[in-house]
Amino acid sequence: RGILSLLAVGVLAAGGLAACTENVAGTGGRPRIGVILPDSKSSARWETADRKYLAAAFKAAGVDYEIQNAQNDKSAFTTLAEQMITQGVDVLMIVNLDSGTGKAVLDKARNAGVATIDYDRLTLGGSARYYVSFDNTAVGTLQGQGLVRCLADAKITKPVIAELNGSQTDNNSTLFKDGYDGVLAPKFASGEYVKGPDQWIEEWDNTRAGTTFEQMLTSQPNIGGVIAANDGLANAAINVLKKQGLNGRIPVTGQDATAQGLQNILNGDQCMTVYKDVRREAAAAAKLAINLARHETGVTDNKVYDPLGKRYVDSILLDPKAITRDNVRDVIDDGYVAAQDVCTAE
Ligand code: BGC
Repeated sequence: RGILSLLAVGVLAAGGLAACTENVAGTGGRPRIGVILPDSKSSARWETADRKYLAAAFKAAGVDYEIQNAQNDKSAFTTLAEQMITQGVDVLMIVNLDSGTGKAVLDKARNAGVATIDYDRLTLGGSARYYVSFDNTAVGTLQGQGLVRCLADAKITKPVIAELNGSQTDNNSTLFKDGYDGVLAPKFASGEYVKGPDQWIEEWDNTRAGTTFEQMLTSQPNIGGVIAANDGLANAAINVLKKQGLNGRIPVTGQDATAQGLQNILNGDQCMTVYKDVRREAAAAAKLAINLARHETGVTDNKVYDPLGKRYVDSILLDPKAITRDNVRDVIDDGYVAAQDVCTAE
């Protein structure tokens, strides 16, 4: 069935047997998709969610696939991509570590006739055919709004706000920041809130985030609210606050609805997180990858502008959801995180 429908699709889409032969015979019979994840420390999501759901989608479609993790090493990232290209993948899907390395890899793939997808992070100046992610500015807006609500609930007036942003080399970090700064800027302008320390955390490194936050708190002991761009950075800030007995008194935001983030919320140490159902993201990206591998056109409903490449990229952007103490249950009921993992997370 697979070969027959593939042949039919190949002939129809590419309009000739040559393309069909390339696709079917050239790769040993079945389309092959290569995926490179960025690391396994900046967020639990990559190994616990993305890998699992991408693999499930590829298996269900009966395509060959390989999912690797660059473990935050740019040269390993490049080597993995080169190996996949040499091995004859039809499609390469990447979560870049930075736009420069990402672009080099995407260009190599393009020159070798391999179709490409930017997964979760847009490669600025890159050449990916598709981009699949969440609406990342909306993620940041939810974080900003979440912090505002928690500050009001805690009746904290004139709070000094500290920001622990993600890695500056990740385009998403900029979008998250645009989102929360959009909510906070009017509050700073009116004097309702006070602008405090604001730093990018290189490589989303949680240890660095702890050190940075410790310094922030030393130089500005009256910090009243913390924007932390994801649950890992939030946990680093919470650990510092714990040492001073300030946890639970200073609202901290997060993202990814990790078991640890949800547990921090239930303990009252974290104000909110942003739930991005990676099952939907992985399913959407896998579907496009399979389309590309079969030389079919994928369906997208969005276009995202890449200001560096000065081009619009056909995209799918999913909706994120804010999670506070009141609806942690939704993430568990949804089957995204198991209750026992939230209860036993460290
Ligand atoms: C992702 C976040 C993740 C962060 C660190 C971002 O690009 O969108 O979900 O927490 O990278 O891995």
